[in-house]
Amino acid sequence: MSDAHVIDGKAFAAGLRERIADAVPAFAAATGRVPGLAVVLVGDDPASAVYVGSKGKATVAAGMASFEHRLPVTATQAEVESLLATLNADEAVDGILLQLPLPGHLDEQAAVATIDPDKDVDGLTPVSAGRLALGIPGMVPCTPYGCLLLLEDRLGDLSGKDAVVIGRSILVGKPMAALLLGANATVTMAHSRTKNLAEIVRRADIVVAAVGRAEMVKGDWIKPGAVVVDVGINRLAPAAGEAKGRLVGDVDYASVLPLASAITPVPGGVGPMTIACLLRNTLVAAHRRAGLADPEGF
Ligand code: NDP
Repeated sequence: MSDAHVIDGKAFAAGLRERIADAVPAFAAATGRVPGLAVVLVGDDPASAVYVGSKGKATVAAGMASFEHRLPVTATQAEVESLLATLNADEAVDGILLQLPLPGHLDEQAAVATIDPDKDVDGLTPVSAGRLALGIPGMVPCTPYGCLLLLEDRLGDLSGKDAVVIGRSILVGKPMAALLLGANATVTMAHSRTKNLAEIVRRADIVVAAVGRAEMVKGDWIKPGAVVVDVGINRLAPAAGEAKGRLVGDVDYASVLPLASAITPVPGGVGPMTIACLLRNTLVAAHRRAGLADPEGF
């Protein structure tokens, strides 16, 4: 992947994880403990179990403490919220991540809302969303924060750039738009009811696609020189002879690549940034909870 057009999220995330690991000893020296991340998994969804496993490994690799809590698929709302309350009160825990989705009988929003906002490393509580909207320090959802880091690395100052975010989910689109606005971009949010989407995207200097529709954004939607960040992860149906279909983004990579000045590939673009930013949020949460200044350079 030596093409300068292609934003190597994997390498960027590896660098970020290294810098986080380097910052842990200074925190430990100041506080007598390492930052701690607790991950809660309810039920036995295999994909969620894989995510939880890789988050735990990355946490340990960064020199932090990882606490994994599993509840059975039959857990009640009260049991989930009681575990979250225990973690809120646990001094060794700086970050709490409730792995979503929860089993269907549970109320996700209500459970997430019980997480201490200062430990909300996923940035999904109403308080975190409110802080982001108000532009005051708080925890920001990991995936959009990772996109912002990649964009700033590529473009420097985003001030005055025309940015179009396609998708308005609580997890990606909305916080992405708030972050770009905070960086002084001029932001348009597009969604399933947007009219003339191609025309709107065509005026953008920055396009962030977070839709969940395979290869929807086409080359003729892109202004030459735009930077394109593809959040989507979609698995195509297997072609003849393939056991598993290919993973593709929300951007039609082949037609967009020649027009964009930079583009994130799928896989290897935004995806690796999510866990790196989870560790970053845990490090920052730990500093704030200990009354220390935010670590520099994150
Ligand atoms: P959601 O399904 O929650 O949101 C999708 C958004 O896209 C909605 O706002 C929806 O609009 C909008 N949308 C749907 N169809 C269209 C359309 N035809 N034109 C314009 N907008 C449309 O998805 P997420 O935000 O959670 O995820 C988006 C993608 O990113 C998925 O592929 C997901 O797998 C991936 N993802 C990747 C992560 C990573 O680490 N790389 C992390 C999180 C997600 P409306 O609101 O009107 O319904």
